[in-house]
Amino acid sequence: LKTLRLILGDQLNHQHSWFNDEQDDITYVLMEMRQETDYVVHHIQKVVAFFSAMRNFGNYLRNKDFQVIYLSINDPENLQNLDKNLNKIISEKNIEKFEYQFPDEYRLDEQLKKFSKHLHIKSEAFDSEHFFTKRDDLEKFYEGKKQLTMEYFYRYMREKNNILMATEKDPEGGKWNFDKSNRKKWTGDPEIPHERGFRKDVSKILKEIEQAEIKTMGSLDEKKFNWPTSREDSLSVLNYFCKNLLIHFGDFQDALHTEQEYLFHSRLSFSMNSKMLSPREVVDSVIDFYYEHRDTIDISQVEGFVRQILGWREYMRGIYWKEMPGYRRANKLDNQNKLPEFYWNAETKMNCLHHSIKNSLENAYAHHIQRLMITGNYALLTQTHPDEVDHWYLGIYIDAIEWVEITNTRGMSQFADGGIVATKPYVSSGSYINKMSNYCKNCHYKVSKKTEEDACPFNSLYWNFLDSKREYLKGNQRMKMMFSLLDKKDPGELEKIRKRAKKIISNPSIF
Ligand code: FAD
Ligand code: SF4
Repeated sequence: LKTLRLILGDQLNHQHSWFNDEQDDITYVLMEMRQETDYVVHHIQKVVAFFSAMRNFGNYLRNKDFQVIYLSINDPENLQNLDKNLNKIISEKNIEKFEYQFPDEYRLDEQLKKFSKHLHIKSEAFDSEHFFTKRDDLEKFYEGKKQLTMEYFYRYMREKNNILMATEKDPEGGKWNFDKSNRKKWTGDPEIPHERGFRKDVSKILKEIEQAEIKTMGSLDEKKFNWPTSREDSLSVLNYFCKNLLIHFGDFQDALHTEQEYLFHSRLSFSMNSKMLSPREVVDSVIDFYYEHRDTIDISQVEGFVRQILGWREYMRGIYWKEMPGYRRANKLDNQNKLPEFYWNAETKMNCLHHSIKNSLENAYAHHIQRLMITGNYALLTQTHPDEVDHWYLGIYIDAIEWVEITNTRGMSQFADGGIVATKPYVSSGSYINKMSNYCKNCHYKVSKKTEEDACPFNSLYWNFLDSKREYLKGNQRMKMMFSLLDKKDPGELEKIRKRAKKIISNPSIF
């Protein structure tokens, strides 16, 4: 049968079994579409990265003599919509069967199911052969259990896949989780090697994006594009991580620093989320490297990394498919405020936010703790509507695809799901930020002050948040201690806290 196979922009899986089939009657199609560039305002580097990676993948297939239709953004044949493009190709090429891989996004899953249902030719959907788990594995794992926690799922994944296990049942190193040793502050030592960057000229693609008048955010140095956009690039980032960064990854996983955008983080999320790398090969490479260098690399560095991929990444995917589509509307804390303007220009006197947002705008990247404990923390403390927060995160990061963005943002960071992902809200006052970073040293505000004009805004916002969300959170056992501290506050002080927090929330631009 004359078959058309769709490859979405985040399905660039070189190792998919599709490519082992007899290819004579098969045509692959990849398309850059306004449907995908416009559902949210994306960072310019994210659009460039996806288009470059898709083009590289299209060329890779062509070089293997596969038949490929590639619709670039300004191609006159491009109707800019998935259904319209597919219908046109199916009729023009007399296609007899349509095939696609299960999308990771609910939106596209629905669209393709509907499209296939109304087709007059046969259609079939295939696994994307990327994740360790199937869409509904997590749901099955937690069937009949009351509370979901990532930790038990992670242990199950370690055992099931025989990863970092000393015996069939016992974890390597005698402990499942070395989280407690993953909390060091970085103060200049050990030296951080330069990231495995790329200095690519992407001016051609940039021009096309500009011609198409796609609305984007953030900045880009068109002669020094820094992200991996092919399988070779991605493998080289992985290799660089193992050789240079893994040795300290765990120790400084939660650290923050004004001069270091990447610290010891891997920068592998885009390669994995676009499927140029599989999570299994990333985990295998890291573990193989560890076994060869056990004399110098501690298990805590490796376990910390494996937990993120085998644990959190798969867990978030499972939660997404378990909870969608309702998850998209979750706002259990009833937060209603707008996200401050400075999230789009980094113009704030709060040094931690300034650096984290600047990093995001310049690199389409921020590491996990910047996302969670700086920008996410502030958005939650100022009681921002989760839709506003989601749109920002979904647009700004190179790795932002809804299945992993929304679960991290609405779930882990904003507690809008009421505790499905996190057991308590990730909120903190300035003292945590000061403990983990050097941000407070040169800040306009004083982290030690509470309600004065020059006091760190996080301090009053933190207590005000607990005070205003008491009804929603009072039953949470893990919040008990914080509420008892709040109860001990002098009424006069509490009033000052409320007043200062109100001022910050209603006038974000002056802070
Ligand atoms: P590393 O620190 O080197 O970690 C290695 C890998 O582990 C990452 O590449 C990623 O694949 C995985 N990982 C780590 N933490 C998580 C996590 N919490 N959930 C899922 N996978 C994880 N990650 C995305 O891939 N896309 C997103 O849109 C996204 N949005 C986020 C929004 C918020 C509010 C928060 C708090 C986190 C978000 N994350 C997201 C998770 C995490 O911050 C990024 O995966 C990580 O910063 C990517 O950088 P890295 O590759 O250098 O990661
Ligand atoms: Fe951020 Fe407060 Fe520290 Fe300033 S003092 S960097 S606002 S935590």
